Amino acid sequence: MPVKNRLAELQDEIAGWRRDIHAHPELMYDLPRTSGLVAAKLREFGCDEVVEGIGRSGVVGVIRGRSDRRGRAIGLRADMDALPIIEATGLPHASKHPGKMHACGHDGHTAMLLGAAKYLAETRNFDGTAVVIFQPAEEGGAGGKAMVEDGLMERFGIHEVYGMHNMPGLPVGEFAIRTGPIMAATDDFEIAVTGKGGHAAKPHECIDTVLVASQIVVALQSIASRGIDPLKQVVVSVCTVETDSKASNVISQHVRLRGTVRTLDEAVRDRAEAQFRRIVEYTAAAFGARADISWRRGYPVTDNAPDQTGFAAEVAEGVSGRVQRDVAPMMGGEDFSYMLNARPGAYIFVGNGDTAMVHHPEYEFSDAAIPFGSSWFVGMVEARLPAT
Ligand SMILES: [Zn+2]
Ligand SMILES: [Zn+2]
Repeated sequence: MPVKNRLAELQDEIAGWRRDIHAHPELMYDLPRTSGLVAAKLREFGCDEVVEGIGRSGVVGVIRGRSDRRGRAIGLRADMDALPIIEATGLPHASKHPGKMHACGHDGHTAMLLGAAKYLAETRNFDGTAVVIFQPAEEGGAGGKAMVEDGLMERFGIHEVYGMHNMPGLPVGEFAIRTGPIMAATDDFEIAVTGKGGHAAKPHECIDTVLVASQIVVALQSIASRGIDPLKQVVVSVCTVETDSKASNVISQHVRLRGTVRTLDEAVRDRAEAQFRRIVEYTAAAFGARADISWRRGYPVTDNAPDQTGFAAEVAEGVSGRVQRDVAPMMGGEDFSYMLNARPGAYIFVGNGDTAMVHHPEYEFSDAAIPFGSSWFVGMVEARLPAT
């Protein structure tokens, strides 16, 4: 199954939708134009059901195949939200909303899945049900979680779920995937260190929060080097240090540290958090200071199920013949993880070619990737629900 001819024919039309979405970026859950456009297109294509407002502003389209002997449904997911970035591409279809930009290619994901929906609604050459899922708030708002909690899987009877993300640096037409963890769990923290402020020339009358915070920063690096199995991955990054006073002759009463912990395994995640709490608390205590930790659990590990990953790679192989089947996992986060925790499935990268990295102000989704991405979505339905 190479790139579908029909999808190659539709490329310009799909690219037109993509550029329109690109020019009108919206953030988080606040996606009236984008979700409205998606729902209108799905209705125009003749989807059997179009439901808005799942997970606040998510949209779901249901396309029934020619038959339904197996009674199975496949979910295909795209994300619709943009980022708070000032676009610097200078393109004719650049953002019309200053400070908002489709810098992660979610415009492309949405357009590719719309293209697949149009094709599936035209052809219906499968046995079962295709459920196209358009989610809000991937960029930090857990829109995927909101949709799952809103009953997405049960309501539409979804058995398996598949997602895709474009990848700059990977040639257009190439796919990359792996079984098991492909994206990290992302936890954020803030540590408030309280000591005793005072005159910098009288440190013995103070509890120096900068010294304590420095010890904490150094000690936290022992999680990765000593606390976790060296064959497992963990990143501990302390990213900001903030003192009460900016003066050079004042010992600050308070220091705040902020950062993130990334892991690829839930057991490692729990262990890293426990070590983190112990190190911070006792290091502060050792110097007579106090540390209050606020720990925010972010997205879980994006974990590709073995069987579904195998199918996803085979379909990709059929589309372009170019698939890396054991790509290195990434330490970024992805809230498709919530859907993969609810149902088995897989998440694949599609090449975006030699462009700026996602989240960069000069990033641009490559329209040349559209036939590959749309063909893969379609192929997953036709391969997992073959017409009988
Ligand atoms: Zn992103
Ligand atoms: Zn993204």
